[in-house]
Amino acid sequence: MSSVLVFIFDGLQPAQVNPRLMPNLAAFASEGVTFTNHHSVFPSVTRVNASSMVTGMASGGHGLSGNRLMIREFDSDKAMPAMEPELAQVARSGVPVLLAPTLGQILAEHGKEYVAIGVGTSGNMYLHNPTAEDSGGATIHPTFALPADLHESLIDRFGPWPEETKPNTMRMAHATRIMTEYVLPEREPAVALIWSSEPDKSQHAAGVGSHLSDTSIREADGQFGDILQWLNESGRAEDTDIIVASDHGYSTISEIAGVEALVHEAGFALGGDEGGVVVAQNGGAALFYTQPGDLDTTKRLAAWLMSQPWCGTITASDAVPGIPGTLPASLVGNEGPRVPELTMSFKWDSLTNEAGYAGTAYSTYGEPGTGQHGSMSKHEMNNILFARGPRFKSNVKLDAPSGNYDVTPTILRILGLSGGEGMYGRVLEEALEGAPSEVAWTVEIHEAEYDMGVKTYKQQIKISTVGTTSYVDEGNSVG
Ligand SMILES: [Zn+2]
Repeated sequence: MSSVLVFIFDGLQPAQVNPRLMPNLAAFASEGVTFTNHHSVFPSVTRVNASSMVTGMASGGHGLSGNRLMIREFDSDKAMPAMEPELAQVARSGVPVLLAPTLGQILAEHGKEYVAIGVGTSGNMYLHNPTAEDSGGATIHPTFALPADLHESLIDRFGPWPEETKPNTMRMAHATRIMTEYVLPEREPAVALIWSSEPDKSQHAAGVGSHLSDTSIREADGQFGDILQWLNESGRAEDTDIIVASDHGYSTISEIAGVEALVHEAGFALGGDEGGVVVAQNGGAALFYTQPGDLDTTKRLAAWLMSQPWCGTITASDAVPGIPGTLPASLVGNEGPRVPELTMSFKWDSLTNEAGYAGTAYSTYGEPGTGQHGSMSKHEMNNILFARGPRFKSNVKLDAPSGNYDVTPTILRILGLSGGEGMYGRVLEEALEGAPSEVAWTVEIHEAEYDMGVKTYKQQIKISTVGTTSYVDEGNSVG
């Protein structure tokens, strides 16, 4: 039976995939397909991208706008963290957590399963299959499982989950054991996914290219190797297509700008009342929700943001049209029922950090010198994708644009299943055995500017497009 295994290295950048740090992944990449022009989804945070991976949609389509976000139909007064307890509460209130069908739901309609296991945040894993309790499949995390009773039964069988450490190797080893002793041999899901929280956790803590980050990458690569070895020894490698990706790239924090406090200090009321602004900070990006119809506050807020030294791009929703200097949220895939009125990416550059990794940016929190992501920096929007297996070509590098929302349509095509037709992402045909490798695509730079008297704010967003699927290459303010 044909099946797909997905392995995610959270926050891994292309420059980190080399034989010194990652002997297993580097060898895997040279044997299979390397996508050299892969894209994260903006905002380049984990849970937006996890949601895109399982729905085939950009953030406007799936509605999970940030790691912190406001879901107006649930609570129109404040932002909330997208963690399992909060998201489960949204679901219990009758509000769908994701606005598009998920891989788990689509597979269930075909009588198949999606089983995901991961050791990052509870919110990340919850988003893989929010309706698993009803629609089938399973999600496994150290603090919960869906269906709920699976959590205790796995503890009975495999023992308690180890404590979180830096690097998070013990927890991931436990997850790897559950994957190779239970999920793959016993459940035999059509699609299995395992999500390593490294190098993300170590890069947030100690920086990109730090000793901790490099150690975390070596250890996560070893765990990837353990899974490959299990597939080989069990005879499953021949009918398993393997996809390896990261959710986003990384930058080094240059300076902190606590946008929510700064907006308040600038005289804007915080909160969901008349004239108020709800701010959801997302590391390298910030989401701003104004009251429906309050174009005046939104315009003043946009102009104030544009006057700040840390302001990169500003996109505006269709609900607040015609604000000078902004570009439309639809350009970057964010337009939809839950789009914030304004979304800002911080300003970034390509300076290198102490360890020689390019990319620095402002952040809403953290310590300068440590790692961050969330912005429209090319160092965060460009991430990794590799594939190897019976349906994929061997030993090729492809330079056509690809993105995290292409993962699910491509998986469904490999399995010969319908359900991916209405998705924003595309089937990565060029990677499949027997298909032509050539892909036509275009690159466009979109600009907007606003003359504020003392200075002119100007932003540029670069977009690559294949057919009807667009990818955000990068976006920043200029000058
Ligand atoms: Zn991440």
